[in-house]
Amino acid sequence: MRRVPKVLLHDHLDGGVRPATVADLAAQVGYADLPTSDPTELAAWFRTAAGSGSLERYLETFVHTVGVMQTRDALTRVAAECAVDLAGDGVVYAEVRFAPELHVELDLELTEVVEAVLAGFAAGSAEAAEAARAAGPGGAGGRQPIRIGVLLTAMRHAARSREIAELAIAYRDRGVVGFDIAGAEAGFPPTRHLDAFEYMRRENGHFTIHAGEGFGLPSIWEALQWCGADRLGHGVRIVDDISVDRGGAATLGRLAAYVRDKRIPLELCPSSNVQTGAVVSIAEHPIGLLRRLGFRVTVNTDNRLMSDCSMTSEMLALVDAFGYGWKDLQWLTVNAMKSAFLPFDERLTLINHIIKPAYAALIDEPSRMELT
Ligand SMILES: [Zn+2]
Repeated sequence: MRRVPKVLLHDHLDGGVRPATVADLAAQVGYADLPTSDPTELAAWFRTAAGSGSLERYLETFVHTVGVMQTRDALTRVAAECAVDLAGDGVVYAEVRFAPELHVELDLELTEVVEAVLAGFAAGSAEAAEAARAAGPGGAGGRQPIRIGVLLTAMRHAARSREIAELAIAYRDRGVVGFDIAGAEAGFPPTRHLDAFEYMRRENGHFTIHAGEGFGLPSIWEALQWCGADRLGHGVRIVDDISVDRGGAATLGRLAAYVRDKRIPLELCPSSNVQTGAVVSIAEHPIGLLRRLGFRVTVNTDNRLMSDCSMTSEMLALVDAFGYGWKDLQWLTVNAMKSAFLPFDERLTLINHIIKPAYAALIDEPSRMELT
């Protein structure tokens, strides 16, 4: 599972820091607010605090990761480790997002934040490529090269979204592939940032919007029909517009039908949804229904530190909960690659030359047939 190629569209840089790095950086920059400096205890603390069942409480854990990511070196290190960790998890393409406005508490400018992160991804990707070369053909030990596209996020409770959108466009040829808004959803509808989304559209830019996670259908409707989002960050609450009768037959409301008909990608994050209380368990996660109904479903980690998860563990959880086999996992992976903010020809190359051959080898292998 770890070696098979994966595609990740929804992963937060400040939600995926290694626990030991949080402790290290805190010591280096004199950040004194960590609950503990022991990496093992810290990992457990993040998991527990994030698992309290509310999105607002979940977001509080980011105070610490963001708190230690306020210098150029810290941002570069965290980004480099992110690339290495994702590559080690078998991810061949990832879109990692972060909010530049959260990293200017000391003396960095927004542009310096973006450049520090891009430098880290370049270094981490180069290290992963070198490890893959050293491992030889077939990517022994799960070593494969990784490509990373950056999404710049604006905070929905703040008022810098237009500025961040302009930053995303300014860096579009240097590794930034899109724009996003994140943060507490209730009370901060996407239309509050309409100006930024209209700017992105005028610039032919791509964007996704966190919608339909902590808040329901109105948020999804605004994100799509007012703001013009290319994808939905989570979008899991679209199930509120689907009714299923006792025989399992589903009826879609107009918004759910629109999302399915237009092939709007849903960046679903199963473990994260369980932690924030959006769903009760992975087994009851709407991904099962949405996949059955043919929505453009993708699987994502959201925050690897807070949820103590990886793409591998998310996929294994889906295998356990829904009996998915390699064909299902390939479908989810191809869905994600199709939905990436990467030029069409480059998406096709990854699908046809990396993803499909790897899954084909597994699907054809008799010893693995129990999983198909
Ligand atoms: Zn998210």
